[in-house]
Amino acid sequence: MIKQISFFAVLAVIAVLIVWMIMSFIDINSKNHSETSGKSITDNNPEENDTEEAPDDGHSSEFDLSALIDPSTLNPNDKIDLYYRIDQVLPAVYESANAHYKTFAQDNPILGSNKDTRVIVLDAGHQDETRKSDVWLSPYIDPSKTTSWVHNSLLTIGTEGTKTKIPEYETTHEIAGKLKSALEAYGYKVLLSHPDIKEKLSGAERAAVANRNNADLMISLHCNSYDEDPKQSGALVLVPKIWAGYPSERLEYLSKHAATVILEEYAKATGLKNRGLNPIDKTSMFAFCKVPILLLEMGFSSCPSDDKAMNDPEFQKKIVEGIVNGINKYFSLIEIS
Ligand SMILES: [Zn+2]
Repeated sequence: MIKQISFFAVLAVIAVLIVWMIMSFIDINSKNHSETSGKSITDNNPEENDTEEAPDDGHSSEFDLSALIDPSTLNPNDKIDLYYRIDQVLPAVYESANAHYKTFAQDNPILGSNKDTRVIVLDAGHQDETRKSDVWLSPYIDPSKTTSWVHNSLLTIGTEGTKTKIPEYETTHEIAGKLKSALEAYGYKVLLSHPDIKEKLSGAERAAVANRNNADLMISLHCNSYDEDPKQSGALVLVPKIWAGYPSERLEYLSKHAATVILEEYAKATGLKNRGLNPIDKTSMFAFCKVPILLLEMGFSSCPSDDKAMNDPEFQKKIVEGIVNGINKYFSLIEIS
């Protein structure tokens, strides 16, 4: 009996030792991980995130309300579950989607049978107010650290047409409404982040509309501005860049893929210059968004001809047509595979 007890006691000690070793191993790995994440946060200056490649109107620094998400409920691993819709449409073929696109039928692409279930959130950039506030950069970084926050604009009024004097938020709202009608004609379910132009939303709150509705795609519409050179013209797209482990490579890829196809169709329909993609991080709308997202700069408010075009009802038809063609093509590509 004593022998048996000793045997089990030895077994218990061995088991405890094994568990302790496993726990230590996990602890070491998680520490390494958090040090890596911490480094990537502190090595970058949150104020410098809009300085790459192309001029931008600064709206990409829109930030959010920390009250939107309870930090105690956040777990970076949870985000995996949010990708289940993407997993359903993402075979290996998607990696060759760009090559496939070259040979894909150019005119009025036929959508797959899932078109009626596609949900698109359209976000009209800006509102009639600028408001400064401390804003939390990402729900996936520790809100107790000062580097996780930046004093920036919670709300931004955006640009104004150099010729028309029409504020950006009016232009984006008008085009978003027309785009919604066009997409609904194709059978998509379309939601506006704020149907009422007077409603004021932070970047994170805009993203939350897409998250709540489990959208397949979120498109934020904006007008660019570069006062130093009014001749700068054309369209570009901002897309999320991985920062502090978010978004995943897959979500980043889908956002870039949608952006590439939509920008190509947009430039084709409008005749505006294609200025390419501009990946950015430390932008709360991107950081809080859990679905593929892109921000289309439709043209430059600071350029007289772009300004006039973006506010001309006839030209707006081309803008809408270009974006619709791009969206149709993007969904066709991910459904074909
Ligand atoms: Zn803007």
